[in-house]
Amino acid sequence: MEEAKAEKWAEVVAKKAIEAVVERATNSLVASLSPHVARVQDAAISLADTNKRLETSTRTDITTGNPSTPKAGPRPSFRDVVTQALKDPQSEAQLNQAAKASIKRRQIMFDIPPEATAYPTTLSAKETASRLQLILDATKMDESPELKIRNVSRPQRTCILVEMLTEDAADWLRSPTGASSLASILGDDLHYRPQAFNVFVKFIPLPTEITAPDVLRSCEEANGLYRGALMAARWARAPIKRRPDQRFAHAVVYCRDPITANGLIMNGMVADHDKLSVRKDKKEPIRCAKCQLWGHVAALCLAPRDTCAQCGEDHRTANCNNHGAMHCASCKKSTHASWDRNCPVAEQKRKELDAKYPENSLPLYSTVGSW
Ligand SMILES: [Zn+2]
Ligand SMILES: [Zn+2]
Ligand SMILES: [Zn+2]
Repeated sequence: MEEAKAEKWAEVVAKKAIEAVVERATNSLVASLSPHVARVQDAAISLADTNKRLETSTRTDITTGNPSTPKAGPRPSFRDVVTQALKDPQSEAQLNQAAKASIKRRQIMFDIPPEATAYPTTLSAKETASRLQLILDATKMDESPELKIRNVSRPQRTCILVEMLTEDAADWLRSPTGASSLASILGDDLHYRPQAFNVFVKFIPLPTEITAPDVLRSCEEANGLYRGALMAARWARAPIKRRPDQRFAHAVVYCRDPITANGLIMNGMVADHDKLSVRKDKKEPIRCAKCQLWGHVAALCLAPRDTCAQCGEDHRTANCNNHGAMHCASCKKSTHASWDRNCPVAEQKRKELDAKYPENSLPLYSTVGSW
């Protein structure tokens, strides 16, 4: 009888673990992009079925007073499936990635203005969370979901990162209604910064002023988006750096939710009756504008003098007179300039960044939970 109990317990534990794996992978865009995750998911689901059948047969045996040891069938054991899943580093990475995307989706960020004193860094996480919970309770409206905080952290002195219990709660706080309800309750001690899902819009015909709110509103209308779906935009390069005859420019548009961002990435963006091509605004590795090497910004550069991004000589790029000359400061070749995206060092740096932030390499934003 002890053995039967232990078996029952093992079954319950196995089912719980399977549920955890399935929950992490189910309904995620990441899973649909990844045959590996889907396979693990299938195996886990079929194993869950097996377990259900085993459970039924065990119960029957107990009622007849004949507890029997279930025979090992041809099905893989739970341990086999998990071991297999963990052996495949890609599946594991993708499960982690799905979990991370889900956390990101549940996060909202508050900024603390420099003059504010209500949230000193000495304030405990518990106290910070309970103060913010009071604010969110006051923010809640009839149609909003439960706004419960899961945990808070302080990535920097000047901001508080809040992880909500559910994606619904965070989505509502990002919506125009939720964001303005929250903003109306916050005093001067906290500013609310809705998380943005950035897209890169290419070849916007000039002089379209994409950063102007009224232009964003008409873009929302032209693309069938809700009002406020496009939170803001900034030019990829400062307009003062444009050539006088420049006809197009690129911009980053901050979308309020991942579905808006993905829609623009897949369908393009209509602006002034033009269809513009859009891609996800990926994190890019940093290259120094002074020495042209990777991993730091010019303000922190230790190089004694400037290196030209075009010809590689000792002068500022803007002062270059060696027209047509090319030399890359990173790989020391004269077949391309330091700014060339196809430089093997640049490619390597992008790969390293993608490895560090796996969701960066996906063409779309994860919308875990809403598919
Ligand atoms: Zn440098
Ligand atoms: Zn030069
Ligand atoms: Zn190079």
